[in-house]
Amino acid sequence: MSSNDSPSLLGTATDAQAVRANPDVAKDSRSARRRVDWATWVDNAVVVLLTASGLLCPQGPALWYQALAVAFVGIGGSVLCGAALVTVVCERQSERLQGPRRKPALIAREARVTAVAAWIASCLLAWPLARLWSGAPTGLVWNLSEAGGGLLIFSQTFAALFVLDAWLYWKHRLLHTRVMFAFHRDHHAFRDPTAFAGFAVGPVESLLTFWPIVLLAIPEAIHYGPLYLSLVIGFVVLNFYLHCGVTVRLIEAVLPPLFFNTSAFHNRHHANAEVNFGEAFTIWDRLCRTREHDQQRAR
Ligand SMILES: [Zn+2]
Ligand SMILES: [Zn+2]
Repeated sequence: MSSNDSPSLLGTATDAQAVRANPDVAKDSRSARRRVDWATWVDNAVVVLLTASGLLCPQGPALWYQALAVAFVGIGGSVLCGAALVTVVCERQSERLQGPRRKPALIAREARVTAVAAWIASCLLAWPLARLWSGAPTGLVWNLSEAGGGLLIFSQTFAALFVLDAWLYWKHRLLHTRVMFAFHRDHHAFRDPTAFAGFAVGPVESLLTFWPIVLLAIPEAIHYGPLYLSLVIGFVVLNFYLHCGVTVRLIEAVLPPLFFNTSAFHNRHHANAEVNFGEAFTIWDRLCRTREHDQQRAR
């Protein structure tokens, strides 16, 4: 679906529009004031409402806000430290996907947007954490037989990964429509990203991405702890790699045949906002012919 010339608000934003959506970055990131518009108000409202939602916690607001603080230190701290480690290694590489940097990387801005995204994820994690600390049941179980057995858990997880990947792809496509791009422009401020951009997304996009965390608060929604944590850590590490700006030959050889997203694939989405929308896998880009490769062949 290429609707670059569509006047409709649901038409896909062009790459030029994606660049213009961050005029402060395009001109001078130090002196320009950040634009405050309707999308910024909605983004801010999401932060305020999610933070205030703890007042309604049945286990008590005090416990919820403690859980929020611990979750924020845990999520924000580990993501920023991991990104720093990857960035130190990758910024020293001479062979970068977009060639030598013409401008310094916007690491401070990437880290600031990531911190807000970590706050949103923490607001969601505070719900199951408050239940866990108060002794109430959650959906997280650590015993395989309690979780329903290996076959059930692995087949459910496989199906859930497919559904989640579909959600991530179509959410991303929705955020690239002209009407919704304002909620995604923060991520496209980073034309040549570092690993700090892996989770540098605005509050509305963070909510649309991280909402499944809150499912852990539902005891009937069984998640097998070791597998769940491995997948979450795998997703975090994959996102560092997708944004690190360099490629590892072995990873680029192994992951694409398994339909996984890679640095070479996702970096093109930052360089050209009209292609390669997959976030975890490339299945939907292949089905919908939105890979850069497909678009070049269509011309
Ligand atoms: Zn990205
Ligand atoms: Zn995008």
